[in-house]
Amino acid sequence: SALPEHLQKTIQRREKVLGPGYTLIYKEPVEFVSGHGAHLIDRDGNDYLDAYNNVPCVGHAHPHVAEAVARQMTRVNTNTRYVQEALVDYAERLLATFPEELSKLSIACSGSEANDLAMRVARFHTGGEGIIVTRWAYHGLTREVASFSPTLGAGSPLGPNVRLIDAPDPRLVAPGSTLADHMRRQVRAAIDDLERHGYRLAALITDCAHSSDGIFTDPPGYMRAVVEEVHAAGGVYIADEVQSGFARLGESMWGFSRHDVLPDIVTMGKPMGNGMPISGVVFRPEVCEEFGRNVRYFNTFGGSSIPVAAGAAVLDVLERENVQQRVLECGDALRVGLREITKDSPYVSEVRGAGLYVGVEIVMDRETLEPHRALAEDVINDMRDRRILINGTGRWANTLKIRPPLAFDSADVTRFLETFAEVAKNRL
Ligand code: PMP
Repeated sequence: SALPEHLQKTIQRREKVLGPGYTLIYKEPVEFVSGHGAHLIDRDGNDYLDAYNNVPCVGHAHPHVAEAVARQMTRVNTNTRYVQEALVDYAERLLATFPEELSKLSIACSGSEANDLAMRVARFHTGGEGIIVTRWAYHGLTREVASFSPTLGAGSPLGPNVRLIDAPDPRLVAPGSTLADHMRRQVRAAIDDLERHGYRLAALITDCAHSSDGIFTDPPGYMRAVVEEVHAAGGVYIADEVQSGFARLGESMWGFSRHDVLPDIVTMGKPMGNGMPISGVVFRPEVCEEFGRNVRYFNTFGGSSIPVAAGAAVLDVLERENVQQRVLECGDALRVGLREITKDSPYVSEVRGAGLYVGVEIVMDRETLEPHRALAEDVINDMRDRRILINGTGRWANTLKIRPPLAFDSADVTRFLETFAEVAKNRL
């Protein structure tokens, strides 16, 4: 079907005026004018099921968040150089969701800024410069963070101080070994190679859902050995919870908790304000104290009254609506349904993930696991044509990325699975 004329015109105008780097999803791009829960509505009133966007975590246009922001807008917005009781309340509430050792919070505006600050603190604290990340990780867009975001590709080179390790894909583990052992050995080799090149370790940073590597969440527990290795080399472990945080993985608020490890620094963003730009860095105090004494860090919008009002309202909803429980139930139902639909498909090697973060890997052959990017793209576009939004991820973009707002409920699961079954009948 041809795109509506109005949409075509807007796309042409967009190409004239927008700067570099803007891309649209889908062969037939979409524009939305409103939303509620996990639903988005286009100009003609059509309802799309959003199974992709994680920023509107408690649901599109959630009234409680909207009211909290609007109310604050009509009162005042001040920055962190004025006393703000609401900021202190928020920090106390957010920190209460962490182990007690993680007891200091800095607020910024984006995940990139959070990771930028986290890495500056890690370098300052350890005196090292070496950084370890997974092979196809994304951590953000500043020059520093881009230098350890291999997913950005050749146009954005990695730093000479950066080493890559495999994402935790249990299928890479040699027979007789364990994922913990496999990961620990890779981290050890990366540390040795950094040292050979004159770099002491500053940090290992991992996305706790390994979103851009292709979504790898399991088995829980392997990170313990890895973090021990990092600490033994004098480095710190930064858990990037930009994707996995705020109950996304279902069992707890934070992805690292599934591994029973204590990170030195935790970063978060995207869902934190349900759309207001707010991000955070949580520290063990001993890691950030010296930095605080020596380096001036002031973030104009970070921690100002309006984004903090949004952040507090998100925590209200997460508590009141028992979101975590729903995430667990709906996420399990989604994976069970997807496995049932795809169990005989020669093109689906794995349905994986935790909570409402689901990956469906599309391959040429279930034995060789050779990626099938074109088929994944066809499925994504077929789903969009049936008004369900998903996308792809991983090195070859061949893993379907199903990551709805946490407002996704059991009726949404049913609609998703019914539509996916239709698409699968034709394609998989
Ligand atoms: N870390 C991870 C794991 C991310 O997925 C992203 C964004 N995709 C970022 C950091 C950067 O966040 P932002 O786009 O808010 O700067």
